[in-house]
Amino acid sequence: MRYRSTRADPGGRTFSFTEVMLGGLAPDGGLFLPESWPQLDDVEALAGKPFAEVSARVLQAFAPDLPGGEAEAVAQAAYARFGHPAVAPLVQHGADDFLLELFHGPTLAFKDVAMQLLGRLFERALERAGRRMTIVAATSGDTGGAAIEALAGLSAVRVCVLHPKGRISEVQRRFMTTVTAPNVLNVAVEGTFDDCQALVKAMFADDAFRDEVSLGAVNSINWARIVAQAAYYVTSSLHLARGGAPVSYCVPTGNFGDVFAGLVAKRMGAPVGRLIVATNENDILDRALRTGLHEPKGVAATTSPSMDIQVSSNFERLLFEASDGDAATVRALMAHQAGGRGFDLSAAMRSRIGEEFSSYAASGEAVDAAMRDVREATGMTIDPHTAVGLHAAAQAREDGLEGPLVTLATAHPAKFPDAVEAATGYRPGLPPRLDGLMGAKERYDALPADLGVVQNAVRELAGR
Ligand SMILES: *Cc1c(COP(=O)(O)O)cnc(C)c1O
Repeated sequence: MRYRSTRADPGGRTFSFTEVMLGGLAPDGGLFLPESWPQLDDVEALAGKPFAEVSARVLQAFAPDLPGGEAEAVAQAAYARFGHPAVAPLVQHGADDFLLELFHGPTLAFKDVAMQLLGRLFERALERAGRRMTIVAATSGDTGGAAIEALAGLSAVRVCVLHPKGRISEVQRRFMTTVTAPNVLNVAVEGTFDDCQALVKAMFADDAFRDEVSLGAVNSINWARIVAQAAYYVTSSLHLARGGAPVSYCVPTGNFGDVFAGLVAKRMGAPVGRLIVATNENDILDRALRTGLHEPKGVAATTSPSMDIQVSSNFERLLFEASDGDAATVRALMAHQAGGRGFDLSAAMRSRIGEEFSSYAASGEAVDAAMRDVREATGMTIDPHTAVGLHAAAQAREDGLEGPLVTLATAHPAKFPDAVEAATGYRPGLPPRLDGLMGAKERYDALPADLGVVQNAVRELAGR
């Protein structure tokens, strides 16, 4: 099992799983994909198995270079920290309609599922190589908390997360700032999320600095995160298919990592049916899949901020798949995108994508209505990201979709209490295991949006 870049022609350089995980982005700027899709043998026998066991099987298939027993050990440790024994439980909300709850991890969002595994894999890979790494990330909300929770206390990794001061919710901030491990640095940047992202970009562009602190990333293009996410498509599809109709998924989508993980599970032999891309008002993917024109617009702020994107970084992986691995096509389309321009999908690519994917976009009103409707019908409270998914699921049913349909519940409603309360009149509370969060002492450095100042803080962290 070797990996190649989406921008490299056949016969080019290949990489191991560990190189792919630690590297993030391919050296030519493309994204890593396996040379061929590994199959899960005896897939039906995995039905009803514990989540950590299935996760380890999926990981092994993609990472044969890990030492024996490591996949099991890492998965067991990662998922022991979840607040639910099923890790990713299914909840029925209609005759053949289900929610897959992915928010039982330490920071109440689905990113924990991948980060908890990735942190442990990073630690072991770096220790084996005798290396240390300083992970730097910018966050507008969920990613930073999940990364800090996953990397805090590790010895080969330092982690610095930049958030825009006063511009993220208190719950989101506290998931990061109440962590006291010495390898964690929280920086509240006096500026916007764009300033934070620009600072991270500038740090990576500074070659000398990058080497000096051994800079690394754990962002959503990291292949190991996608592999980790494929596991819950395997467990849930096996539960619901039971030898019958394949299971379709409705996925609240931002950077296209989560829904691509559904395709990975399908390629490995799990009974996955249609993959439905659900977007909020930032609907570039819905427009691209419907019209073939992939055209960026400005980002609109919505009640589902983790899906507020201009372009989806993992979409490149689907372009590679849909063009039969034609790297020249991918390079041409990405060159258009880098120039800030739109691009057209060929008729052949569109029809390939349409065989497996559909899409729907939800307006702000539709999101609020979805939160209200499910609460009235079932008593369940869902968050705005999940509501984007349920809106799309209802549309898909109206368009005639049959068979079991699972909507991914990507965040706990208590992470977005204001939006939930505005739509439903009900203010969701945090699960009891997080009782201490709102009273715990916070620790962060407030710094100006100045590259030199932030670099000095990261240097100090790297030297700890
Ligand atoms: C990150 C995130 C998403 C979007 O996932 P992608 O993999 O970026 O498509 C959806 N919902 C929540 C709550 C998230 O944090």
